[in-house]
Amino acid sequence: MKTKKKLALSTQIFIALILAILVGVLMTSHAAIAESYIKPFGTIFLNLIKWIVCPLVFFSIMAGVLSMKDIRRVGGIGLKTIVYYLCTTAFAVTIGLLFGNLFKGTFPALATTDLTYESSGSVNFMDTLVNIFPSNFVKPFVDANMLQIIVASLIVAFAIILIGDGMSSDVDTKPINTMNDILMKAMEMILKLSPIGVFCLLCPVIASNGPAIIGSLAKVLLVAYICYIVHAVVVYSLAVKTLGGVSPIEFFKGMMPAIMFAFSSASSVGTLPLNMECAEKLGADKEITSFVLPLGATINMDGTAIYQGVCAIFIASCYGINLTFAQMLTIVLTATLASIGTAGVPGAGMVMLAMVLESVGLPVDGIALVAGVDRIFDMGRTTVNITGDASCAVIVSALERRKNRKRAG
Ligand code: ASP
Repeated sequence: MKTKKKLALSTQIFIALILAILVGVLMTSHAAIAESYIKPFGTIFLNLIKWIVCPLVFFSIMAGVLSMKDIRRVGGIGLKTIVYYLCTTAFAVTIGLLFGNLFKGTFPALATTDLTYESSGSVNFMDTLVNIFPSNFVKPFVDANMLQIIVASLIVAFAIILIGDGMSSDVDTKPINTMNDILMKAMEMILKLSPIGVFCLLCPVIASNGPAIIGSLAKVLLVAYICYIVHAVVVYSLAVKTLGGVSPIEFFKGMMPAIMFAFSSASSVGTLPLNMECAEKLGADKEITSFVLPLGATINMDGTAIYQGVCAIFIASCYGINLTFAQMLTIVLTATLASIGTAGVPGAGMVMLAMVLESVGLPVDGIALVAGVDRIFDMGRTTVNITGDASCAVIVSALERRKNRKRAG
């Protein structure tokens, strides 16, 4: 029996990406058509992903924690994950600030009079903290509030482990694993559509953000993209090589489908299912990816932190303000916190930029300067965000394996 050889999903996504750019450029003068007839198919695809992602995170974290069987082990992995996430994020803002300062002289002086930007949402640290904890069982699912879903799923999973004699749970965990398998299968079905999703999401963005709009902001965009690349190539390569024992080339190659998807969708949460698949193919353990990646898609945003660093310098320079060293340190701290509070959806990082600007007394209205091209910043920062999450899953898996081997031998 002859079977037709099918193109790998990553190749299909790549072709879709190139086609989207080509068709997008051709359609720059017909952007409205792309917006009304191509984008809706992208929206359908994104909706399906949004539909699956909340229950998927809930059950996959539970299944991951239950397979570890030991709350202390979950705590150990959680600690390693959070330390890695915080360190890489602080590093990311620093790179953003460094390059921002280096290229400050080349930034265009844009007029800052008549700018208005309404900062919205909660940008207060204490509010962000309180918002991690759900007050209703179903609302986190309705609002797609990932952090609350993670907390809820951890509490239930811990409770299941604790019912019993302390050695093994008295609760039959098979239904949870079955539920997890069903959701994973459904997700796999949805992901088969990702080439179509990528094309329909990216094409309208290219068509409506034609070269003209980018114009005066090209330099800032370029600096942000240089930082994204430097951070990914230097920090992640070194980390996966030294701590994870994976060659950087193999890592980035394996990550390509998720990278291309993140670039087109600008949503870490949307990329989560594909990211899990890529990280597992790269050797990360399932029980670890199912815990580390949903957490990362919610709190670890290195690309967003870089963007906030670069934009803070750019906005300051447009207003003719020179930031002091102490102000830069404040930015490192607030951008790290702000990126934790940023939701993994398109455009969220720009809202949190308000918190960073306010912390050093820069005018929040300055956000209006970069708002027009936010999507282009966003595509790059999301790509960095999800790559950082996957690097963590690979590294924590390798560290755990090393620990187990030491214990056994
Ligand atoms: N879109 C980004 C993400 O999903 C968040 C941001 O806007 O910075 O990771």
